[in-house]
Amino acid sequence: MALLKAYDVIIIGGGPAGLSAGIYTSRARLSSLLIEKGAVGGMIINAQLVENYPGFPEGISGIDLTQAMHHQATRFGLETFSAEVTGIKVDGNNKVVRTAQGDFTAKAIIIAGGSERQKLGVPGEAKYTGKGVSYCATCDGAFFRDKVVAVVGGGNAAVTEALELTKFASRIIVIHRRHELRATKVVQEKAFAEKKIEFLWDTAVAEIMGNTFVNKIRVRNLKTGQESIINVDGVFVNVGSRPDTGYLKGVLTLDANDAIVINDKMETNVPGIFAAGDVRSNSIRQAIGAAGDGAVAAVNAGKYISG
Ligand SMILES: Cc1cc2nc3c(=O)[nH]c(=O)nc-3n(C[C@H](O)[C@H](O)[C@H](O)COP(=O)(O)OP(=O)(O)OC[C@H]3O[C@@H](n4cnc5c(N)ncnc54)[C@H](O)[C@@H]3O)c2cc1C
Repeated sequence: MALLKAYDVIIIGGGPAGLSAGIYTSRARLSSLLIEKGAVGGMIINAQLVENYPGFPEGISGIDLTQAMHHQATRFGLETFSAEVTGIKVDGNNKVVRTAQGDFTAKAIIIAGGSERQKLGVPGEAKYTGKGVSYCATCDGAFFRDKVVAVVGGGNAAVTEALELTKFASRIIVIHRRHELRATKVVQEKAFAEKKIEFLWDTAVAEIMGNTFVNKIRVRNLKTGQESIINVDGVFVNVGSRPDTGYLKGVLTLDANDAIVINDKMETNVPGIFAAGDVRSNSIRQAIGAAGDGAVAAVNAGKYISG
């Protein structure tokens, strides 16, 4: 594969971790490239209102927050390349980052690839993805104006998505395996106060059905085993996420959840390769944690390069 360019630092992933790392490496005058396979901003662009990122007392949308981070990093010289990183090859001090468009080399690499939404794994999910099954309310919510939708999950991301859907849908049924939500109390209070949102506890989705588009789901009460059919026009799946590290297997040490094992300097088992944000083990899975990790990784990448 053609060698495209050499950099001091290559950052994989353009969410809060990667963007924060980019601000620090670029300000340190290290030539820096950020490679992003999707939209710069990462997972937080799904959040309509981020209320827990310091500095924004009235909150800020995830898109505005990460656009500002990107602008800030670009101002100091961070370059951005749109591609999926498919592999990393370590050859002594030389590190090769592979993409379909060509290879790059770097003295240090910061992996900030975040995590991927998990699937339900039930019949009908794959068939109706894009035809009523969605993994992103911000992206697809507007298609469900005045419709009935199910949101599957009970964590922060699921309940936030249910709240986001109140702008469009007429009725939102949150389906959760447990008897209480895992979301932060403030988020729970907002959801319980919202008339359009109702809750189906101790329940799992067993099947997604429809014709061309989704029109119903089969659900199972996990306590009684009783099954029932609910008519819905859409299903928003938000049952957690898993680090996106398939392309790193055999190169880096991963934990049982596929997260990259790091030390307190964000160093991986390979000298010169760092990991930051949701992709690393024991992450708090929040934007502020990711941004902090990115800064730690960038400072230590600088120290590694200068020897
Ligand atoms: C609906 C929702 C609401 C949320 N609300 C909040 C909130 O209010 N407050 C908060 O603090 N957090 C919130 N979060 C969590 C927050 O989004 C994450 O903790 C944060 O985005 C993690 O940042 P990151 O940079 O580690 O990873 P991500 O934001 O996931 O970014 C990783 C990026 O890497 C890219 N990537 C992955 N692999 C590759 C590859 N091989 N090649 C190239 N690019 C790659 C991905 O496309 C992605 O853009 C929310 C999440 C969701 C889903």
